[in-house]
Amino acid sequence: MTKFKALGLEQSLLDAVSDLGFESPSEVQEKAIPILLENETDLVALAQTGTGKTAAFGFPLIQKIDSNSRTTQGLILSPTRELCLQITNELKLYSKYEKNISTVAIYGGASITEQARQIKRGAQIIVATPGRMKDMINRRLVDISKIDYCVLDEADEMLNMGFFEDIKDILSNTPDEKSTWLFSATMPKEVSHIAKKFMHNPQEITVGTKNAGSSNVQHEYYVVGGRDRYPALKRLADTNPDIFSVIFCRTKRDTQKVAEKLIEDGYSAGALHGDLSQNQRDLVMNSFRKKQIQMLVATDVAARGIDVDDITHVINYQLPDEIETYTHRSGRTGRAGKSGVSMVIVTRSEMRKIKSIENKIQQKFISKKIPTGIEICEIQLYHLANKIKDTEINDDVETYLPAINDVLKDVDREELIKKIVSVEFTRFFNYYNKAKDLNSSESGERGRDRGNRGEVPTSGSVRYFINVGEKDGYDWMSLKDFVRDTVGLNQDDVFKVDVKDSFSFFNTDAEVTEKILSTFTDLKVEGRFVNVEVSKNPGGGGGRRDRKRSSRGGGGRDRGFSRSGGRDRSKRRDRNQGKSENSGNRRNKKRKSDFF
Ligand code: ADP
Ligand code: MG
Repeated sequence: MTKFKALGLEQSLLDAVSDLGFESPSEVQEKAIPILLENETDLVALAQTGTGKTAAFGFPLIQKIDSNSRTTQGLILSPTRELCLQITNELKLYSKYEKNISTVAIYGGASITEQARQIKRGAQIIVATPGRMKDMINRRLVDISKIDYCVLDEADEMLNMGFFEDIKDILSNTPDEKSTWLFSATMPKEVSHIAKKFMHNPQEITVGTKNAGSSNVQHEYYVVGGRDRYPALKRLADTNPDIFSVIFCRTKRDTQKVAEKLIEDGYSAGALHGDLSQNQRDLVMNSFRKKQIQMLVATDVAARGIDVDDITHVINYQLPDEIETYTHRSGRTGRAGKSGVSMVIVTRSEMRKIKSIENKIQQKFISKKIPTGIEICEIQLYHLANKIKDTEINDDVETYLPAINDVLKDVDREELIKKIVSVEFTRFFNYYNKAKDLNSSESGERGRDRGNRGEVPTSGSVRYFINVGEKDGYDWMSLKDFVRDTVGLNQDDVFKVDVKDSFSFFNTDAEVTEKILSTFTDLKVEGRFVNVEVSKNPGGGGGRRDRKRSSRGGGGRDRGFSRSGGRDRSKRRDRNQGKSENSGNRRNKKRKSDFF
């Protein structure tokens, strides 16, 4: 507290600081606050995400605002609606003991007339996204011609998002004599360009190394085959049962796909990308903040506003195209003094990108191995034991205890422990028991991916195993049609079809084997992965179920295990059974309930 006082903050703000529980200023606050309070100056401040930049400009701004005047005196531009709201909330907390200071948030996707009304009532501080701000200027709903301070927050992100022209237009509506404070995590050319063009002799402060990722983040990479990204992701999640993470994909489509797969496999996951409505995004973000979602799968653009402090892991499902983007991603963890891990799933051919990132962030990556099935089982076992130990006892159980004791009366303590643990553990064990090694060696060893598929015959007749059967509504004729139509084969190409309860077999000539296997890679039908493998039993007849788990790559094979166990599995079965009727409806229903 005394340290905050020494920076020159007045009592009402110090009271707010103490309510917020801030004990001492962060480095960027220590450097920026005195400069901004004592001078009318332009400022360029570079500090990583999570270093407390909001307070670094927020406190001085509030102290300098004339609360007796209702004129708009401060404008803060920030890249996303989420950040806008976050900054506005923070400023309200900072100014809670100041009378008559009003801060208004201006952003797209909400009523512009309502926002205009709030401004009209007199907002000394406006926090805005560039797009909506420009819109309001054009419609003359806002007057920024008398502002004294303009803050460009997360300048690098705003420029990344293509807001340069909007910012230029907005600034042309502000007086020349104002002070401009630019805050940014990184200093790419575009940001220095803005600084040169719109600022006068700015003072500069830098916290940490320029462009460096936060140093309390550990960077790790895992080399896997291209088709093994998804199973690798699952193992990383299973290795960290308490994971609270953001998973970055490159496209909206992949983002949606990975989130859907995770949900289907029983993880608490959600998708965040630009194809969702604002309302849907808000719902996902709320669940994530409340930790109802453990794994948030997001695109870079959509994740820009994520302001959650306790993220334990950032997982790069795919590396970004721009190295700069990696810094933003990994900056989502290790915030507010906590430590975090940024994991990258790469294929061998992407290894050189790791080197470039290391140069950029000036930190070394640690090469890690995707844990084996048995390692995961061990971790889960200890996690489970600890969970049982730490579980708070629900007193309502009391009523049922006599009856339960009666059921368990012949089971001794040791056996009881074994049984309790087995309830959960067997599921993991069965799933991972024979799981293959997903690690790809970093150098050479070409053709290994193919090896994973098992030997693909090149001549004669080939028999296949497929993971659908009678319970999915197939008989031999409809399965034959399904395979033929899906792969695009001729009438008699599929033969010896043998449909069992939950799986089936069929034959084709070896010439079409490649086509069959590639069609059924990651193929989803009615929301479920359909998996085909070459059967090791060429004669036909029965095959063993576990064969399903032991061979080829691709997401489908790993779906046998779901985190929520039996419950989830039966749900999935229901879904599959309903495949012929009403499937469109079902899909929609699933969307709503699973995501939001
Ligand atoms: P940035 O804008 O640099 O990414 P924020 O301003 O969003 O960082 O701050 C990150 C987190 O750190 C917020 O939760 C904020 O409340 C907290 N924080 C900021 N300053 C301090 C401080 N001096 N002491 C403790 N926590 C702080
Ligand atoms: Mg910030």
